[in-house]
Amino acid sequence: MDIRNYLEVEVLHLTAELIENDKNMCNCEKCKSDVAAYALNHLRPKYVVSDEGHIFTEVEMASDQERAQIIAIVLEGIELIKMNPRH
Ligand SMILES: [Zn+2]
Repeated sequence: MDIRNYLEVEVLHLTAELIENDKNMCNCEKCKSDVAAYALNHLRPKYVVSDEGHIFTEVEMASDQERAQIIAIVLEGIELIKMNPRH
């Protein structure tokens, strides 16, 4: 049994997608991780108990409202890192 924050998967996925769509945003691993870390620090974690792949069913259950919230925070992180890249 594993306890995981299921927002992690969703945040990493949306971060990669949104950075790719933003032509002015650096697409390197460092900036991507910084944006994802920002978003995860500003969202309330949602812990689930995962047993052998069950985590994926939970991830699919992210509601539209949750996704919209994650997108808003990720966009905020992109703007911030864009202005202050750590490299
Ligand atoms: Zn970068």
